[in-house]
Amino acid sequence: MNIHEYQAKALLRSYGAPVSDGRIVLKADEAKTAAGALDGPLWVVKAQIHAGGRGKGSFKEESAGEKGGVRLAKSVEEAAEEAKKMLGKTLVTHQTGPAGKQVNRIYIEDGSDITSEFYLALLVDRQTSRVSFVCSTEGGMDIEEVAASTPDKILSFSVDPATGYQPFHGRRVAFSLGLEGAAVKQCVKLMGILYQAFMEKDMEMLEINPLILMPSGDLKVLDAKVGFDGNAIYRQPDIAELRDETEEDPKELAASKHDLNYIALDGEIGCMVNGAGLAMATMDIIKLYGAEPANFLDVGGGATKEKVTEAFKIITSDPNVKGILVNIFGGIMRCDVIAEGVIAAVKEVGLKVPLVVRLEGTNVDKGKEIINNSDVDVIAADDLKDGAQKIVKAVKG
Ligand code: GDP
Ligand code: MG
Repeated sequence: MNIHEYQAKALLRSYGAPVSDGRIVLKADEAKTAAGALDGPLWVVKAQIHAGGRGKGSFKEESAGEKGGVRLAKSVEEAAEEAKKMLGKTLVTHQTGPAGKQVNRIYIEDGSDITSEFYLALLVDRQTSRVSFVCSTEGGMDIEEVAASTPDKILSFSVDPATGYQPFHGRRVAFSLGLEGAAVKQCVKLMGILYQAFMEKDMEMLEINPLILMPSGDLKVLDAKVGFDGNAIYRQPDIAELRDETEEDPKELAASKHDLNYIALDGEIGCMVNGAGLAMATMDIIKLYGAEPANFLDVGGGATKEKVTEAFKIITSDPNVKGILVNIFGGIMRCDVIAEGVIAAVKEVGLKVPLVVRLEGTNVDKGKEIINNSDVDVIAADDLKDGAQKIVKAVKG
């Protein structure tokens, strides 16, 4: 689960991290009061969306102006003006995809003077099963680009969970960023704060790009992107409250409410599969035969008829879906339950695209019988290869 920059900053502030003072604006007429509550002489007006690259992004609407989603202003009036221009408009960045995201919240912040911009992240490193620090002197830029063109400019190391964070970790970050004097001490303290917040709040990723050094010699968290482990949200009620459902794909949101493992993709073939591995294999084989999957969906081992019905509804609600492949290997999941769910869903939402069903395993005969006895127009498949070929042929002709 992701949160907005201003929420992440409030969280980090509560742990003692240095962040600028700021105000959130939800309606245009609040902008002037918000900007007026800050000291100036520089204001930063920042579009709040769950995507990075806002500064270099652009708006779809001309009325939003030529500048990106992060704007500097020299007066309260100018700050309020920029906030009004961006509210309700669609911001496109390299992380939003071409559709962009509507800006419903604006954060106005006290502007900072910058001497250097650094990159800093904490993340769960799957390879070492530890929390890793990643830092680079090349802050403010696309870290993916730095990683590709100058990987030697990125330092990464992991923290032993037995000892947890130690000051030498912070010094390693400080020296790799070229910090000196008081800034080294600040860095050691700040890294400790970030590590503590990361662990206590079950974060999956904490990215600060940029972390800045100011002319005063102090460090500050200028941007913050935080993702939390969705499986741990149940024990983080204060974090769960920060969820902004308008930022999420409505299909993924519906799926999460029904406990379905669903990820929206941009292909044309909807997939309903049980088991993550089989779902991955199904997506691969669809690609192998020349089409693209519209989603990843693992209905899980203990799915009920109702859950299968919901899954089917979510798949068909995607306008890009031109065909559906149901691929079930019934182990714990019984084929007759899947068959009942599919038939019930088709009766409820109708079927406007070809549907290929491949069933195998527990109660397969019962499942096939249910499908054959229904008046739903199903193309039966014998195995995975046959199923994939049939759905691609039905869609592509
Ligand atoms: P992002 O583009 O979504 O990553 O948004 P950021 O919050 O990282 O802002 C983008 C860039 O705007 C930063 O890299 C800075 O160069 C600039 N910026 C943001 N806040 C300030 C500020 O307080 N003062 C100054 N001078 N520049 C800022
Ligand atoms: Mg940034």
